[in-house]
Order: sequence, then structure tokens, then C-alpha cells
Amino acid sequence: MITGTISRVSGPVIIAKGMIGSKMYDVVHVGTEALRGEIIRLEGDEAVIQVYEDTTGLTLGEGVENTGSPLSVELGPGLLSSIYDGVQRPLPELLKKSGDFIGRGITAPGLDRTKKWEFVPAVKTGDRLSPGDIIGTVAEFQFEHRVLVPPKVSGTVTEVLKGAFLVDEVVCVLDNSVRLTMMQFWPVRIPRPVAKKLDPVLPLVTGQRVFDCMFPVTKGGTAMIPGGFGTGKTVSEQTLAKWSDTQIVVYIGCGERGNEMTDVLVEFPELIDPRTKLPLIQRTVLIANTSNMPVAAREASIYTGITIAEYFRDMGYDVALMADSTSRWGEALREVSGRLEEMPGEEGYPAYLATRLAAFYERAGRVDCLGTGERTGSVTVVGAVSPPGGDFSEPITQNTLRVVGTFWALDTSLAYRRHFPSVNWIKSYSLYLDSIAGWYSREIAGDWRELRDKAMYLLQKEVELQEIVQLVGPDALPDSEKAILEVTRMIREDFLQQSAYSETDSFCSMEKQYLMLKVIMAYYEQVNLAMNRGVSLRQVQALPLRASIGRMKDVGDLEVIRGMIREISDRMMALEVEK
Ligand code: ADP
Ligand code: MG
Repeated sequence: MITGTISRVSGPVIIAKGMIGSKMYDVVHVGTEALRGEIIRLEGDEAVIQVYEDTTGLTLGEGVENTGSPLSVELGPGLLSSIYDGVQRPLPELLKKSGDFIGRGITAPGLDRTKKWEFVPAVKTGDRLSPGDIIGTVAEFQFEHRVLVPPKVSGTVTEVLKGAFLVDEVVCVLDNSVRLTMMQFWPVRIPRPVAKKLDPVLPLVTGQRVFDCMFPVTKGGTAMIPGGFGTGKTVSEQTLAKWSDTQIVVYIGCGERGNEMTDVLVEFPELIDPRTKLPLIQRTVLIANTSNMPVAAREASIYTGITIAEYFRDMGYDVALMADSTSRWGEALREVSGRLEEMPGEEGYPAYLATRLAAFYERAGRVDCLGTGERTGSVTVVGAVSPPGGDFSEPITQNTLRVVGTFWALDTSLAYRRHFPSVNWIKSYSLYLDSIAGWYSREIAGDWRELRDKAMYLLQKEVELQEIVQLVGPDALPDSEKAILEVTRMIREDFLQQSAYSETDSFCSMEKQYLMLKVIMAYYEQVNLAMNRGVSLRQVQALPLRASIGRMKDVGDLEVIRGMIREISDRMMALEVEK
């Protein structure tokens, strides 16, 4: 074992001498308390180490031991409903061992070593196994946990067991004397291998109209939610965690403020999965960093999170990874880089910020999983960004923008007007519109894209018209343009606004979303037809249609909404031109 001594301590970063033979990203134990750290730079016999725990009190000359292995996570039954810190230490265990303040040098394994799981084998003696094959299953809450042959391992089964086992007990033996347990390890900074990346052709159904209908993200796609304080980033991430059609959620909370994270720790376990009525945490892995936890562990947290997400993907599931907020991750990176006295880039962030962000989002994707047979899985990544002062020109927002497919720009003035979700429809975009068009035509309707684009066109037109109105007042506009303003108000208030707290409207099916938009656009079309006949806008507005359009959100029966299209045209046609 390589052992060195501490030659310098600078906040979360230390330098150790005598570390010849070490590799980048090796995990080390630092000092007499054996604090965990990771080598992030090597120069001669010196290793620069980021330490995941508070380094106060470390003294020069204390020993450093290299464990010889990279920072890894434990993957297996027991992940679901766990709450971890950034390096997969279970927080409830840490608190039990050390009281309210997490003491130093405390270790606890990521997976419980005392719990037995009922293993049901899916292979028999003589079967030939390759990486990614399913050797058996374990019931974890309502979830089928598939135990996989780890990447790079293969062989023929000589023995397989059935029954209750601990995660580290052997359940399957191969002819090359490989002994498989229900658990595997994986280094967090390396993406888990897949057979093939697939095109992102399926939407992630979130039940949120502004996301699904206007700026969709795909299963395996990437999205960012930048927004100033109080614009709804956390509510959006939690709404997505609740409603997205994925089996598993990995939620990384990087606390903005200490108490905000406490909220997550207390509140998240109380959230109910609206579909199954079971606790949401039963299909969630929660990674929590409060702002008072060591920054290096925060830097590691997004890798720990995405590795866990990839593991569930490899079983053939759809996984959503929520990171709230990646800005706090970036700041951790900046602090560590500052301690290294690296040449700072923009706003003090290291020059490699952009490549790190890109490499992280690159791990999202819909894939053909390793292993025999057809199995697809996906990891969708949704990262919140909290730019200081809500200014989107800062480096984390800009560098994330370059790599994600969907941009949901939250807007302070919309949030102030209580227009939620406060997604700015002019600034936001999705690069996936074309790739999911096929799915939409097949599953919902052929004219979704046309309606959506028309609505977006009107919303853009509204901005121009509002400028005119501000200058010369609304009366200067012709009826045809006043009609646009009426319709865009419907699009904004009766379609885009959607309360996360509404009993009836917190989730809206794709079919209902489509019909709601169709009704509003049918209204616009009929208004124009009527006006072409000579009917005045005032006559149209006197019809009791606006109110029923406003009530669509709460209507459960889709036939009622469908019927409105007919009603709108009947009523408009019945209008007679005033003499
Ligand atoms: P941020 O994380 O961006 O600081 P939050 O997610 O905590 O902001 O949201 C602040 C407040 O905005 C919430 O407490 C809630 O009152 C309101 N809000 C945000 N999004 C929604 C939504 N979709 N529906 C209803 N209210 C919302
Ligand atoms: Mg927040």
C-alpha cells in the first residue's frame, strides 16, 4: 500500500508527499481519523487530494494511505428510499452514529450489510452468462430489482442459489470461479457501459402542459431549469419527480440554504406518488448536500447520483435524475479549483467547467442495455441552475445551455405575477420537437406540431402587439389583432398556467393537453371566420365561451372538452352580422 504524509492543508484540499505510484482519482484515507479523500492531481511524488470531510485540525506530517481504488458506489438492493450524502454514506446512519453534527471519519456502507433479501434466480446451472445478463430478481417495495452480471464478467453457471441472502453473500458461481453477489461496485467518474445508444424518440411524459406540449424533453434527454430565487426550480423538480413516467427517480439536492435542504430531508420522504399512492421515496434515491457539508462531497454528488441512475437504467428501466441545483455543484468545483491555485477562467470557475458539465450531461441517454435479449432503459437528466441575481449570462447557465436539449427558462416577473410554472415561452426551447413528432402522431394526433407552432407564433406576435399597445393604447389595434391578444391570453392563462398544488390539474394527460390546445386554437380559427363574415369582435366576446374555456383545466371528462370544439363553431356560426 502506498502511504505518504500531509505536506499542506488548504481547506478541503490537502497535499501529500511520498505518494509515488498513485493513480488519479484513487481514494485515500487522510490523517489519524482516516478522513476519506480522492486524488485529483499528481505531480512527482506529490498528490493533491480533495477531502470529503471537514479538514480542520489536520496537521502536517500526519499519514495518508492510498486504498488503490477509485471512488465507487455500491449498487444493489437497498438503494431505493435511501438518503445519502455526496459519497454515498447513508445520512440516517451517520446521524445515528454521531448525533446532530456529523462527526469526522465516520463510515457506513452504502448498502445495509445486515438486511436479507429474497433472491429469486433467473438462471440455472449450465447457462452461459455475459455482462448485463439478469441472474435473478429481488422484490424491493413494489419494484423488481434485477440482479445483473457486472460489466466485463462472463462465464457458465456452476451453481445458483435461491432464498434470503445478505447483499454481499454469494448467490451465483461461474465456471471461472467468479462468485457473484447481489451487489456490484462501480467507479462514479466512469460511465457504465451500454450495448448501444438509441435515438431519443419517446417523450418524457411529465403531465405539465408547458413542458410536454411546448418544450418537451425526451426519455434519455437532457433539460435545464435556470431561474432566480423563488421562480419555481424546486417545485418543478419535485413535480417532475412525482409525475414523470419513469420507474425510478434519483434526486440530488444541493442545498441553496441549510434549511432548504432540511426541508427536502423532511418533506421528500412524506411525498406521495400520485399514481400508486405509495410514498414517492420507495422509488427514489435521494442524495443530499446541505450547504454546511464539505464542498468536495458536493462535487462528487452528481457523479454518485448519475452512476446510481445508470445502474437502474441497465436493468431496463426509465430513470429521471433531478439535480437541484447544479450551480451549487459548480461552486464546489470552483472552490476546490481555487485551492489548487489553478488559472481561473470566467468568474473564477476553472477552465474545465464546460467539459465537466458536458461529460455529466453526456451520461444521459436512452440505451440498448448490455446483456442478452431486448432491454432498453433511459436516464433523463434535469438540472436546475440558480444564476446569481437571475442573470443567465453567467458561466454555469451558459455552459449548460450548450449541452442540453431542452431549456426551460424560469422568469422572475412571471413568478412575481404568480404565473406558474414561470417558464418564459419566448426564451425557452426544445431541440426534441422533431424527434418526438412521430410518437405524437402515432399516440395522440397528427396535428399537434401544427397547433403548437401556431400557438407559439401567436405568443411571439403578442409581444410585438403589446409594444404597440403600450405606445398608443389598445384601441389603435384592428379587431384581427385584438383577437390575437384575446387568444394569447387564453393560451397563457387557460393553458400554460398549471398549479402544482391543484387537485384536478397538477397532472394533465397528453391527450387532454392536446385537446385543450385544440379548443383554444379552434376558437381563434372560428373568430377569424366570423370576423371575415362581418361579425364584430365585440359580438364574439359576448358569447359565454371564454368562461368554459377557462374551466377546461378542471374538467376530467375528455368528451366534454372534445364537445367544446363543436360548440364553439356552432355558436360562432349562429352569430348574425349586425346592421
Ligand atoms: P426556487 O427553487 O426557484 O427558489 P421554489 O420552487 O421554491 O423556487 O418556488 C417558490 C414558490 O413559487 C413556491 O413555494 C410556490 O408557492 C410557487 N410555485 C412555483 N412553482 C409553482 C407551480 N408549478 N405551481 C404553483 N406554485 C408554484
Ligand atoms: Mg429551490
